[in-house]
Amino acid sequence: MNHFSKVSIFLLLVLITCSSFVVLSPDWGFFGHRRINRMAVFTLPQDIFGFYKKHIEFITEHAVDPDKRRYATKHEAVRHYIDIDHWGTFPFDNVPRDWTSALVKYTEVSMVSPKGDTIQLFGDKAVELIDDEFLNVTRKSTLRKLKKESIQIDQKNYRTFFKDQIQPNFYEEDWLVDTEAFKAFYYDETGVELKTETVFAKDHFSEYGILPYNLISMQNRLTKAFEDKNIKYILSLSADFGHYIGDAHVPLHTTENYNGQLTDQVGIHAFWESRVPELFADKNYDFFVGKATYISDPQEFYWDIVLKSHSYLDSVLLVEKSLSETIAEDKQFCFEDRLGKTIYTQCEDYAKAYSDRLDGMVEDRMRASVYALGCAWYTAWIDAGKPDLSGIDKFKPDEAFQKQIKEEEAMFKKGEAKGRKHGGE
Ligand SMILES: [Zn+2]
Repeated sequence: MNHFSKVSIFLLLVLITCSSFVVLSPDWGFFGHRRINRMAVFTLPQDIFGFYKKHIEFITEHAVDPDKRRYATKHEAVRHYIDIDHWGTFPFDNVPRDWTSALVKYTEVSMVSPKGDTIQLFGDKAVELIDDEFLNVTRKSTLRKLKKESIQIDQKNYRTFFKDQIQPNFYEEDWLVDTEAFKAFYYDETGVELKTETVFAKDHFSEYGILPYNLISMQNRLTKAFEDKNIKYILSLSADFGHYIGDAHVPLHTTENYNGQLTDQVGIHAFWESRVPELFADKNYDFFVGKATYISDPQEFYWDIVLKSHSYLDSVLLVEKSLSETIAEDKQFCFEDRLGKTIYTQCEDYAKAYSDRLDGMVEDRMRASVYALGCAWYTAWIDAGKPDLSGIDKFKPDEAFQKQIKEEEAMFKKGEAKGRKHGGE
């Protein structure tokens, strides 16, 4: 593109942005998320189909609540993605599949020495696992400062300490560690007396996304809601769950290059997950995916989804790259009228070429989302002991719930997302 046309397109964009502000929808787009939640109801076996069918409007309508919540808390955004390629290469065996283990591995625990030096005691690259049993302190500066040649700690004991003392701080601003308790633990394990008044922990893991761990946690929370027969939670968790499961099926939710910013393809996120399905799902996609089945190993089930999504990443990027180099630039982006507003977006023909070259990938991932969501709901109900729902199936959102949704919506409309954005901004 020559300099002049670049400038003129820039000016046009400025003009459009100023004259009619357009919010591009994140993730599968409102359209995709709602469709996934809605269609999942039809995968359900007879036992719970009636219950979900009765509440299908709620489940559909609230499919995008988690995106709205991103504007209310910084802890929300990380639930929608995992930059798995930040941690290594496929199949990422080095990334623990269990949440506590991942945190144990990557959370830095350090002390401040009387001289004011920070000495890292635990955390990635500070220790290594040997024999599946012991943690070996490998950071040389730590050994030097503690005047030791080697230090070993029983891995199980550290995990227990971490789970009881450190992990509960996850939602706090600072991860404070009870210094006396830590010193006692360290002394018991190693015979080393730590001279410090301050021990602190820093989470270096969750900022790169916690999507698969969140799915496992959602499975447990929904099961609990069924056990309690708490209809408010059953419905809101069911709707939220659909959102996160949908996100997990999107290849660009599993990479640091989540919007093509590292490969000069900015905007590809919304192109793949919003633009393509919005254009073609209604006419061409088949959402009848069969009956939901029981998930015997949720951890494996959800990790498989994420790894499969990631395996599509190369195609998602390379196909668009090659198309963008072969199709004229003025055939790639077009002005389009949407609800009375002019937007500048990928042309329909360009989207069709992309979709065709992906050979049904977007449809497949949407179908897989629908199926997985049905399985997730069904499994929660079974694991809760198949409670009879006939007595609790009348639900009117109470005032507090409605107020919360309204507030989140208001923040969503005007606000800046806390944490990283995903989408076509
Ligand atoms: Zn999302």
